[in-house]
Amino acid sequence: MSLEPIARYETERGILIYRITAQVFPMLTANIYVLVDGAYAALIDTGSGLGASSDHIRRGIEQIRDDWGEAVDWASLARIVITHAHVDHYGGLGALRDLTSAPVAVHELDRRVLTHHEERLTMASHAISSFLWRAGVSESSHASLMGMYGWSKGLLRSVDVETVLHDGDLLDNRMLVRHMPGHCPGQVCLQIDDVLLSADHVLPHTSPHLAPESITPSTGLGHYLDALHTIAAVPGIRLALGGHEGPMHDMYARIEEIEASHERKLGRVFDVCAQPRTINELSKLLYPNVNSYDILLALEETGAHVEYLDQRGELAIANLDEVANDDRAAPRYHRL
Ligand SMILES: [Zn+2]
Ligand SMILES: [Zn+2]
Repeated sequence: MSLEPIARYETERGILIYRITAQVFPMLTANIYVLVDGAYAALIDTGSGLGASSDHIRRGIEQIRDDWGEAVDWASLARIVITHAHVDHYGGLGALRDLTSAPVAVHELDRRVLTHHEERLTMASHAISSFLWRAGVSESSHASLMGMYGWSKGLLRSVDVETVLHDGDLLDNRMLVRHMPGHCPGQVCLQIDDVLLSADHVLPHTSPHLAPESITPSTGLGHYLDALHTIAAVPGIRLALGGHEGPMHDMYARIEEIEASHERKLGRVFDVCAQPRTINELSKLLYPNVNSYDILLALEETGAHVEYLDQRGELAIANLDEVANDDRAAPRYHRL
């Protein structure tokens, strides 16, 4: 059995979209979609490959065949699309590659994460490490956070990519590719008629995680909000289906909620910067009750909001002399 019953949706022109839910991390489930249009079938995302994730997808495909009578199997699968190169969405690709030779498509900005996993992990680790020093974490917490960040080392393997996606592509004559950078550089939403597979760009309950673009270009709050405005301006989306959680019947209202939540966070950062503070100090004030890996996520989220305000000239650095003389000194931000 898949974790939850298979859900079935239909676009205005009759393309079917099945949702399989998989346990991708111990505390996180993700949605994998199977697009069926006559004899054509495509798999959207592949889970994490960890724990029971791939098993849930395999059984989900069996259920779509057995319970819904679709002629979907691994041998005839025409396409795999990776919505963005985060482990919970593409980590299962290596394992599923043994079952199918369907060509893999991913946006150009995320391609290298798939094809050169070790290289990207190494470079991203360097960028995270320098971000953490800049944020002002202690040496011991730097070591423990870096240890957590590198957990996936050796678990994932590099995989080939056959099709590189760009904004505006009409993939396989069915899926309109909409590039939505912010949460991930190569994040795409896929529009199929009046249905949007919104991946992690728009989620019904969670505000998608953001990190500063000083760590990874084409991420960060500025890119994310721009992309949120872009998708809000696409008319006629009747149903949005995210990479996690349930269906969204009013995506436009959900986008307004996400925007408002960022406005609130920006306001809070601005308020507490009445005193000069490091990103680490700000993160502890904004997210006082987080533990283990969530500490890193909180630092990144705080860093993204500080970066946004700093880029827009709302903050200044109070200890510039100290930073100028010491590579490891953390800037203290105060509001203007
Ligand atoms: Zn993601
Ligand atoms: Zn995700």
